[in-house]
Amino acid sequence: MKDSFNRKINYMRISVTDRCNLRCFYCQPQKEFRFIPHNEILSYEELLRLVKIALEMGINRFRITGGEPLMRKNLSQFIKSVVELDRIKDVSLTTNGLLLSHFIDDLWEAGLRRLNISIDTLDQKKYAEITGGGDLNQVLKGLNLALEKGFSPIKINVVLLKGLNDDLAPFVELASRLPVHVRFIELMEFSPARDHFVSCADARVRLAAYGLFEKAEPPKGAGPARYYKLKGMKGSIGFICPYTEHFCSSCNRLRVSADGKLKPCLFSDWSVDLKTPLRQGATDEEVGALILRALREKPENRFKAGGKIKGKGLREVGG
Ligand code: SAM
Repeated sequence: MKDSFNRKINYMRISVTDRCNLRCFYCQPQKEFRFIPHNEILSYEELLRLVKIALEMGINRFRITGGEPLMRKNLSQFIKSVVELDRIKDVSLTTNGLLLSHFIDDLWEAGLRRLNISIDTLDQKKYAEITGGGDLNQVLKGLNLALEKGFSPIKINVVLLKGLNDDLAPFVELASRLPVHVRFIELMEFSPARDHFVSCADARVRLAAYGLFEKAEPPKGAGPARYYKLKGMKGSIGFICPYTEHFCSSCNRLRVSADGKLKPCLFSDWSVDLKTPLRQGATDEEVGALILRALREKPENRFKAGGKIKGKGLREVGG
């Protein structure tokens, strides 16, 4: 499936909940956050139907996200039902890892093999500060169990935050010692914490102190990140730089929020409602036509997205 700018769209990011067990200061909306009422959140049946329709249209890669997806009951069963669909190429999960140790066996049994775990610092005190009280040891326990179980690739998302995780050495050490792919991410400008922005270029300069990084093969499911490694490193270091190194020209994704709003671009306010038609008996063709509509509305790049989402958290704008 191609959009108006000839980009192949084959990836859908599905937020299964807006609830989260962390309160990361940069992800929080500025205003009081109003949780979506439970009856407005798409049921697994509705989500599975949507996945099947998207699959028919050529979208065969799915990422499950949130809020914190592991907060939603029976997530592993839902993942299993997606993994088992014919022609699915890739299913992955983005999690803060806090509940990973509880669900690691279920997720493996469900057929999930790829994980992205968000860990912004390896310092317990700073982790609690950034996340509003999260327990880093619990996340690292989940990471170790995931490695033992054989999940691969495991990617670690690290949002670059001035004054909070300036020391990147612990992440270089982590990627040297373990087969994990650490990705440094530029803070989204709509974050309530814009003052903490650090560019990828700044991070690269700091990383140069640890040795000569050479270009590395991207791990499976590679999105917009570029990867590098030091000699002998078991994993790699990647960069996701939406501001300083735009990658809109290769964007391949659509996003579905927990209440069924389909967004063609993270930076746009525009979305198409799928929940109402799904609940009012729309046919697969009618739902498919709405997906095509979102595809047609996908802007060429973030500058043309026309969004006014400043001050909102990522949870609020679709995972
Ligand atoms: N709860 C899950 C997690 O923590 O991975 C999934 C949802 S979370 C919104 C997905 C990712 O978005 C996390 O890696 C988080 O750090 C990142 N994120 C949230 N707000 C962001 C922002 N303003 N700029 C850049 N990344 C952000």
